[in-house]
Amino acid sequence: MIALQKIEKRFGDTPILRGIDLTVHEGKVTALIGPSGSGKSTLLRCVNLLEIPQAGTLVLGDQRLDFRPGAPPPRRDVLAVRRQTGMVFQNFQLFPHRTVIENITEGLITVGQWPKEAARVRALELLERVGLAHKAEAWPASLSGGQQQRVAIARALAPSPRLLLCDEPTSALDPELAAEVVDVLAGLAREGMTMLMATHDLRLARRVADAVVFLDGGTFVEQGPPAELFARPTDPRTRRFVQTLL
Ligand code: ADP
Ligand code: MG
Repeated sequence: MIALQKIEKRFGDTPILRGIDLTVHEGKVTALIGPSGSGKSTLLRCVNLLEIPQAGTLVLGDQRLDFRPGAPPPRRDVLAVRRQTGMVFQNFQLFPHRTVIENITEGLITVGQWPKEAARVRALELLERVGLAHKAEAWPASLSGGQQQRVAIARALAPSPRLLLCDEPTSALDPELAAEVVDVLAGLAREGMTMLMATHDLRLARRVADAVVFLDGGTFVEQGPPAELFARPTDPRTRRFVQTLL
């Protein structure tokens, strides 16, 4: 289980997350929706500690971190959380001067200290899974956006994280390329991968998410299964926002 409790994040004096409570159950997928600037990316970045919250608690498996202003958690705990999370970004963020397979093996070798050959075997297995084994030696720039994002997903999965974080994984893609990324994420969800994703892609949320959470102005507004939250939002802020998506 992954739990965020009363998470607060400020940049300077500006509160961005104002006490967020959120639970993601093992094997389930939660989608975060909300207007631009509502804090979705910041929340994802607080889960893998790319940003350190000033207050609140993060529970990830058997790890529990309590945040206090001016007292960042020990480096050891931060690294342990990072090892358990993989992140997929809107704009893929592949290393342009590395081949597809090197994009996946690099972190395994340098961070995870995997032997080179074992890293290659693992990378090929993941490329197979996202349908790109034949592109192992290609350069990222020679791939379509959908293919690049599938490589990024394979890279994020390589160290077997407990949780996959995705920040608008389809929003830089044309619909037909987005569809192949949705297929890959739907496959992972079926296999029981726990995911927390920010998305405005209704197709993605409807097909993959078990729960949709609506954030507004750095606060949790409401949560429900996609069919319900999109069809019958209870809060007027959710209703207004959902209308802009349909
Ligand atoms: P969303 O992903 O929902 O669009 P973000 O989490 O990116 O929202 O941003 C929430 C708010 O936090 C925005 O007002 C943004 O300008 C601000 N913000 C995000 N990152 C930083 C940062 N590193 N420094 C200062 N302000 C930031
Ligand atoms: Mg964002």
